[in-house]
Amino acid sequence: MFDKFNRNLNYLRISVTDRCNLRCRYCMPEEGIKLFRHEEILTFDEIAGFTEAAVANGVNKVRITGGEPLVRKGVLTLVRMISDINGIEDLSMTTNGVLLKKYAYELKAAGLHRVNISLDTIDPVKFTAITRNGNINDVLEGIYAAKSAGLFPVKINCVIRDSKDEEEAIGVTRFCLENDLEIRYIRQMDLVRGHFSMVEGGTGGNCSLCNRLRLTSNGKLKPCLFSNIEFDIREFGFEKAIKLAAEMKPECGSKNETDAFYNIGG
Ligand code: SAM
Repeated sequence: MFDKFNRNLNYLRISVTDRCNLRCRYCMPEEGIKLFRHEEILTFDEIAGFTEAAVANGVNKVRITGGEPLVRKGVLTLVRMISDINGIEDLSMTTNGVLLKKYAYELKAAGLHRVNISLDTIDPVKFTAITRNGNINDVLEGIYAAKSAGLFPVKINCVIRDSKDEEEAIGVTRFCLENDLEIRYIRQMDLVRGHFSMVEGGTGGNCSLCNRLRLTSNGKLKPCLFSNIEFDIREFGFEKAIKLAAEMKPECGSKNETDAFYNIGG
């Protein structure tokens, strides 16, 4: 499916929950967030049904994200339901890795192809400070489990302030080289103020190449991360929401005052 600017929208990112087991400083407020009510969150049937409709419209690349996708109860069943859809060539997940040691092999068996794992420092003390409550050993064990399970290529998402030459990023870069991991540097963004930039090592942030649609955990289909435009898939129905999102995808985003990273999934 093509938009007005001749971009082929073949990539769907699905946030499956607004909940997270970390509280990263640049993502969530310390006091936590007002969580959606259970009935506001899309069911597995809705997510899989919508994904099927998106694939019928040309999507062939799907990423499962969150909040933290691995805290969604029954996530393996959901991964299986999505991987059973014919036509998905690349099925990935973005995770903080905390629960990967437990789930890596089962995720692979459920049909997940690969993972991106967030890691902004390899210093245990700084890691706990950035995530407010995280233990880096959980993530490192998760990374090794993902490699053993064959969730290749295992990529690391490293949020930087300005440059990959910052001390923390240098440490993560070295760790990735030593462990045969691909790294992507994501400059810290501000949705409300409209600060966004290209992802180094990835394709994010380049509007002219943007092939993405995003589904939030409460069923809003967003054609652009940096825009308030969204279509409720329950209100419009799957097909119409997809058509409207493709039609209304802006050439370039500016600000997003209606949503946050932890609900959209990055
Ligand atoms: N919980 C999962 C995780 O930690 O990877 C998935 C959701 S998280 C919102 C997805 C990605 O968004 C992570 O790589 C995270 O570092 C990034 N992210 C969150 N807030 C951000 C911000 N303000 N600027 C840039 N990236 C951000």
